[in-house]
Amino acid sequence: MRHQEKAVVVFSGGQDSTTCLFWALQRFAEVETVTFNYGQRHALELECAAAIAKELGVKQHVLDMGLLNQLAPNALTRSDIEIEAKDGELPTTFVDGRNLLFLSFAAILAKGIGARHIVTGVCETDFSGYPDCRDIFVKSLNVTLNLSMDYEFVIDTPLMWLDKAQTWQLADELGAFEFVRHKTLTCYNGVIADGCGHCPACELRHRGLQQYLARRVV
Ligand SMILES: [Zn+2]
Repeated sequence: MRHQEKAVVVFSGGQDSTTCLFWALQRFAEVETVTFNYGQRHALELECAAAIAKELGVKQHVLDMGLLNQLAPNALTRSDIEIEAKDGELPTTFVDGRNLLFLSFAAILAKGIGARHIVTGVCETDFSGYPDCRDIFVKSLNVTLNLSMDYEFVIDTPLMWLDKAQTWQLADELGAFEFVRHKTLTCYNGVIADGCGHCPACELRHRGLQQYLARRVV
């Protein structure tokens, strides 16, 4: 049964957040999305998110977070920085506090439109060292947000303990497997659906997909 409540989904147009969007649509009476424009390498990422929101008939709020790039130039926004992940180091796509900021702005927006739930696709399982994607951080921020705005937010993290294969499975259970596979953008090189095949994001997505397909019963 659907909660008679409103949710805001932090939405980038990628596999994870699109799966979260379908999850929220099944669960909540009203769903809106918030997308952050922080000068992504590929404007296509924003176009992709807008197209998905439009197709699903979901309102999308786009917030300008260009200041993030001003504070922390990184490989997600600067084409002159290589995307790489060395053992034992944070990948060059890392931006300190990004999730902290995104969730805080999402909360301000959520309260403004009367939504209690904030849905985010952060995940500790594929933990690549981002401290603000950890479950303990999200729980801590939830308390802080509630205190800061005197409001009972609930931050939902449906993917927190899933690996990439299980995230594909969840999309499938939500009836969204083909949609997520063909219409989302995860690739760092801006190639939609199955992607370029060789960047770190594609490798992760592809490995999970193959694992899931190997056990999928059609
Ligand atoms: Zn790629």
